[in-house]
Amino acid sequence: LEGPLAIWDEDFRLVVSNHAFAQSLLNQKEMLAPGTSLEDFLNLAAHSGLFEDAIGREGEWAAASAKALRAGPIRDMTRFTNGRVHQAISHKTPSGDTLVIGTDITELETARVARESYARQLEQAHEIAHHQAYHDSLTRLGNRRFLNEELARLSDILHQKGGRIAALHVDLDRFKQINDTRGHAVGDAVLCRVGEVLQNLVTASDTLARTGGDEFVILRYCGVRKCPPARELANAIVAAFQRPIKVDGVEYRVGASVGLASTDVSDVSDLLTDSDIALYKAKSLGRGRAHRFDRGDFLEMAEIKTLSDDLLRSLDAREIVPFYQVQIDAKTGQPVGLEALARWRHPTRGLMTPDRFLSIAEDLEVVDRIDQLVFEVALAECMAAFEGVPAPSLSFNISSRRLMSGGVLLAAQQASDYPGQVAFELLESIFLDDQDEATALQLDALRDAGVELEVDDFGSGHASIIALEHIAPDRLKIDRRLIEPITTSTRSAGMVRAIIDLASALDIKITAEGVETESHADILRSLGCGRFQGYHFGRPAALPEVLQAWWPEQVRP
Ligand code: C2E
Ligand code: MG
Ligand code: MG
Repeated sequence: LEGPLAIWDEDFRLVVSNHAFAQSLLNQKEMLAPGTSLEDFLNLAAHSGLFEDAIGREGEWAAASAKALRAGPIRDMTRFTNGRVHQAISHKTPSGDTLVIGTDITELETARVARESYARQLEQAHEIAHHQAYHDSLTRLGNRRFLNEELARLSDILHQKGGRIAALHVDLDRFKQINDTRGHAVGDAVLCRVGEVLQNLVTASDTLARTGGDEFVILRYCGVRKCPPARELANAIVAAFQRPIKVDGVEYRVGASVGLASTDVSDVSDLLTDSDIALYKAKSLGRGRAHRFDRGDFLEMAEIKTLSDDLLRSLDAREIVPFYQVQIDAKTGQPVGLEALARWRHPTRGLMTPDRFLSIAEDLEVVDRIDQLVFEVALAECMAAFEGVPAPSLSFNISSRRLMSGGVLLAAQQASDYPGQVAFELLESIFLDDQDEATALQLDALRDAGVELEVDDFGSGHASIIALEHIAPDRLKIDRRLIEPITTSTRSAGMVRAIIDLASALDIKITAEGVETESHADILRSLGCGRFQGYHFGRPAALPEVLQAWWPEQVRP
């Protein structure tokens, strides 16, 4: 035996020991004298400086070791200050002696420790990998995979205990604009902040996940015990994002739409599709609202899906064409302008107006392509039709997407070839939402290119007077919802008069939209309105038809 060995008699006096015993336990060459008591030996050992556990508490250690050996048998691991590790084993012989042997297990022990730390590292790596696979690295919320697993888990609970699962699809209304105009770093920070806001609105038992760019989903399981209605959560989310959120000291109005669906059957496979459809519906109803799924939405959605696919095809096939509505000078009654309005000449559905396809185009983010198509064709048609004669002004509707694109500047430059005035109509909301440097610069560039700027549907939104003064448009087009009641309500007439007076004070021209009757025209004329547009004078039509009605001499055979 190479390791330390000692035999103690019944009274724990040393009978015999070996060199290794003296060497490795006492750090001395001379063997320990037989007859030495266990306590004496342990006191020597405690003060040898070899036993890690004994350092600083030598007496205590010696007493405890003696007690253990006397009680025996032992099987202990001992760490030495030189880094070695022994296993000490004691054994009582039939004659009453106690045999103690030590085995150096340093290598075994090192291997075991290494094995354990390796296992721990593996476990951690696995945890991290698992977390990454199930979480979104930006917001640290769960991802789609996480959502699917949670849904499966909740569906099991539903199956066993009954109850109801609600799903809320949340989509930000203006995230894309923020991301496009302020850059991706700001976009990311906004998303993180949105994640925090949502986290604060949900309860601890809700599941919250980010499933796409600016799309979040919440699952709420409601068992037999009452829980807060999902509808309230949906409304709270909409309300929370109506207020601006603050990121790095800057306020952003992101706005949110929420689709809500719920089920009490254990087949939950349709739940997320339903809440997604409801979200789509919420957006098509005007965004910034919550909508609960119903069956009708589903059919509508199927139709929208078909139209979406079709719309992309139609752009390549150039099926989007301009119609024109005439604008009349209030004093002379002469035609002085045309507004180009998009129509979809569908091969099987026939002619479609923008209410059928514009919101779809917005979701597909192709409105700017529609604007571009209408512009190209209308400019070419009208240049040909009004060659060498006083040409009417030509107005185009410009989406916010188109406004911030490079294409619109190019279009403005091309427009200078047209013999008449070209105007770009911008919705009121553009003026309010994006009063930033970039928009202001773009508007200036358009004006420099010779294009007039008009505010479309004025009075329908919330453009402030301050914004008006700031942007200084050339013309306001008063929304037809304000015009329509002026023949029956003096209050409405008064409001229109106020707008006209305000505009003239700011040196802004006025067009009234939706002039449907002679008496509308008469009242508007008396209020000082400069231009009329409406069914009373003509509905939007293809150019040959409009020429026939108003410029017959320009009709080519
Ligand atoms: P808008 O620019 O305000 O155009 C006027 C809309 O009012 C047209 O509808 C026109 O047909 C309708 N309208 C004209 N006079 C009357 C009237 O007397 N009574 C009534 N009830 N309605 C009248 P349309 O052509 O369906 O266009 C709807 C909207 O779609 C437009 O409103 C405009 O915002 C948008 N839009 C049309 N073409 C384009 C386009 O090429 N690009 C973009 N971005 N938007 C377009
Ligand atoms: Mg318009
Ligand atoms: Mg309008």
